[in-house]
Amino acid sequence: GATLGVMGGGQLGRMFVHAAQRMGYFTAVLDPDPDSPAGRVSHRHVHADYLDEKGLAELAGCSAAITTEFENVPAPALAKLARLKPVAPGADAVEIAQDRIREKAHFSRCGVACAPYAAIETQQQLDAVPAALLPGILKTARLGYDGKGQQRVATREQLAAAWAAAQRVPCVLEQLLPLAAECSVIVARGADGTMVHLPPQLNLHRDGILAVTQVWEGALPREQAQQAIAAAESIARGLDYVGVLCVEFFVLADGALVVNEMAPRPHNSGHWSMDGCDLSQFELQVRTLAGLPLAPPRQHSAAVMLNLLGDLWFDGDKPRTPPWEAVLQLPGAHLHLYGKLSARPGRKMGHLNLTGASAQQARGTALAAARLLGIEPF
Ligand code: ATP
Ligand code: MG
Ligand code: MG
Repeated sequence: GATLGVMGGGQLGRMFVHAAQRMGYFTAVLDPDPDSPAGRVSHRHVHADYLDEKGLAELAGCSAAITTEFENVPAPALAKLARLKPVAPGADAVEIAQDRIREKAHFSRCGVACAPYAAIETQQQLDAVPAALLPGILKTARLGYDGKGQQRVATREQLAAAWAAAQRVPCVLEQLLPLAAECSVIVARGADGTMVHLPPQLNLHRDGILAVTQVWEGALPREQAQQAIAAAESIARGLDYVGVLCVEFFVLADGALVVNEMAPRPHNSGHWSMDGCDLSQFELQVRTLAGLPLAPPRQHSAAVMLNLLGDLWFDGDKPRTPPWEAVLQLPGAHLHLYGKLSARPGRKMGHLNLTGASAQQARGTALAAARLLGIEPF
């Protein structure tokens, strides 16, 4: 079998490795952490920094093709790898997704509306911010995730203070929008331009972190679902993208759909596909990387995904094991744990998929699981 390489050893890499191995591939993971979740289950684990020449050469040397599992892998590392082996997605697409300013410019090029915003890279741009953008959210242009690097601001004074607190790095100020819902669409695009997608996912965030994803026919109004799919496809096509891409959207109170951001990789909101769909987002990633055919995925069960954050491993200050015995007695419960060696609040430790023959059944089971685990109902 050929070896598929992946930059990054987190949980997304681990689930990619599992999917690749199931299909007969060997895997190689590059991650500086010797205990990384993906490295520990991979055939080969290259311990090196992402920009380390020797590490990159070793990964390229043993891999037939290379992908990435985390957003902030330095684009120059991907560009270096691409001189040696096929890399998907490409450095240029990843670079755009890493920078909110370039990302938003790409969305407008594709004719997809995003929240009204202003780029803030200079004092002049700060002073010129239109009043209509307040109240707003100041987001660092690079390196944010799970709501980190974001500050809500209501006045010009707060905006100036927030930018100073962000060390005056490049930022965007987005208008704070009245959200009726959030959703995401995962597309997979092959090198020949073939594109397939997973059904639109209804997402609930808590404290800036994805908490719950629900997927079934009708979870989102049909019109917004169709719009979201078309927008995600046009964003992927516009990048000449190869691989799995997730696009996140806001549904506004008046029903309008606006794009939030994209992730050039499988996404937390697509984890339900491991148990609710005949093709998971990780199998799609393997197929795009290995040049295998992309059949349209078919959802076979209504699904709810509950994120399992490190908080569940504590009872106040006391460490505990969540009550898996009780949870696994629920029909349709599928537990995924990432093998992280220690829990801390807010850390993604695993997820729980609850599937059912109907939306009502999946939701009922998910609410029962949430009650057992101490996750707030939704
Ligand atoms: P991720 O982990 O998804 O990459 P992130 O740190 O990049 O997160 P965003 O997706 O930009 O953060 O924002 C996190 C959440 O904050 C959103 O899912 C949404 O709930 C809220 N949010 C972000 N921007 C806005 C906005 N302009 N108006 C209202 N709510 C917003
Ligand atoms: Mg993000
Ligand atoms: Mg987001």
